[in-house]
Amino acid sequence: MPTRTESDPHGFKRRGLMFVLSSPSGAGKSTIAGKLLAAEQDLKVSVSYTTRAMRPGEVDGKDYHFVDLERFREMVDEHEFLEWAHVFDHRYGTPKTDVFHMLGEGQDILFDIDWQGAQQLHQLAGGDVVRVFILPPSMPELRQRLERRATDSQAVIDARMARAANEVSHWDGYDYVLVNDDVEQCFEHVRTILAAERLKRSRQTGLIGLIRHLTKTV
Ligand code: 5GP
Repeated sequence: MPTRTESDPHGFKRRGLMFVLSSPSGAGKSTIAGKLLAAEQDLKVSVSYTTRAMRPGEVDGKDYHFVDLERFREMVDEHEFLEWAHVFDHRYGTPKTDVFHMLGEGQDILFDIDWQGAQQLHQLAGGDVVRVFILPPSMPELRQRLERRATDSQAVIDARMARAANEVSHWDGYDYVLVNDDVEQCFEHVRTILAAERLKRSRQTGLIGLIRHLTKTV
């Protein structure tokens, strides 16, 4: 018997969705992703592989799988990534097997990936992918947030700022665009998007049995 879950109130399996959150670094995406994962039991995060160094407070296997360049290249050669990209002189990739496993279990998956990853996932999985882009309210505000975070050197912050404009220029490759000037409100909007996308008719393939049953009784 299929189980009854929050996103599946009728006890029928719904088609899983791939929920992509992108933003320039520092625009609040990680905070919103964390809140979303805490609030939504049927949403699991895809943990990427990266060649960048671990930041203080990060945990290997939770924030990222931290690997060296040689291992990353091997994984590329073995086609172990669903998508991968160069970001800030490092490589980042989404592991295929984890994603297929989670989708197979009927989970929705959250991806914290950049515009290159969003584009690649969309090309691969089209209608199963929902792309959300979060904008900072302004560039000075973005710099302040990066400086307040105090995890990167000034040179890295400058590089992130330089990249932010480029990242923002890809906003038109997304289904939804939000401005994060109030983190609570932005989170509520992202949650609303997820709820609405889950209810799209095209994803309710599991309801066919119920529809048949309901139409028989009229
Ligand atoms: P950070 O180094 O700040 O954790 O991440 C830098 C950027 O890389 C962020 O925009 C993040 O969304 C992106 N990113 C993280 N993992 C992946 C991934 O697997 N693929 C792609 N394309 N981008 C990623």
